[in-house]
Amino acid sequence: MNIVLFGPPAAGKGTQAKRLVELFSMIQLSTGEMLRAVRATGSEMGKKVASIIDRGDLVSDEIVIGLVEERMDENGPNRGYIFDGFPRTVAQAEALDNMLQSRGTKIDAVIHLEVDEAKLTARVENRFKEEGRADDNLESFKVRLGRYSKETAPLLPYYEAQGKLKGIDGMKPIEKVGEGIEKVLRRLNG
Ligand code: ADP
Repeated sequence: MNIVLFGPPAAGKGTQAKRLVELFSMIQLSTGEMLRAVRATGSEMGKKVASIIDRGDLVSDEIVIGLVEERMDENGPNRGYIFDGFPRTVAQAEALDNMLQSRGTKIDAVIHLEVDEAKLTARVENRFKEEGRADDNLESFKVRLGRYSKETAPLLPYYEAQGKLKGIDGMKPIEKVGEGIEKVLRRLNG
């Protein structure tokens, strides 16, 4: 079973992905984490990626798709992936469908964490205090929300048309959101 955790920045995708890893022994593929790892190497590519992330922009489809494919090759056969923060553009979604198809598998569900965007700013302020991520400042966050509306939200009809979209209320407490997702996955698993 492969799923996508979908929603605006700070919707809680990473938090829920980690819970699912424990519950279902799936593998989390977070492009945000991969890119932060690339950044930490301090390489030329790392520097390029850092400046894009910090201003809240999207890293190029080519780089992100390459990282995901590399990771899938390293992992080999497994109990399924939780894609977190990927895909973020239609081109990424199409590339993902192709990569999975050529490995004899597919996306089974797209979990849409439905959140009140106006309330996300408070979450980001909190996360900045806890983790100190340079892109968790108000200015970058506005850019990230704008990119989400313009480039990522159009994936909702893409997955709706495939009958894969499952909405979950992401404003509930973390455990409740988790239980909601768990129910969807258990139903899929039969
Ligand atoms: P959040 O979900 O809070 O936005 P992420 O850790 O998923 O945090 O992403 C942080 C940043 O990394 C994004 O703002 C973007 O610059 C970059 N990034 C992550 N995933 C992608 C992707 N799939 N395509 C392009 N850029 C990405």
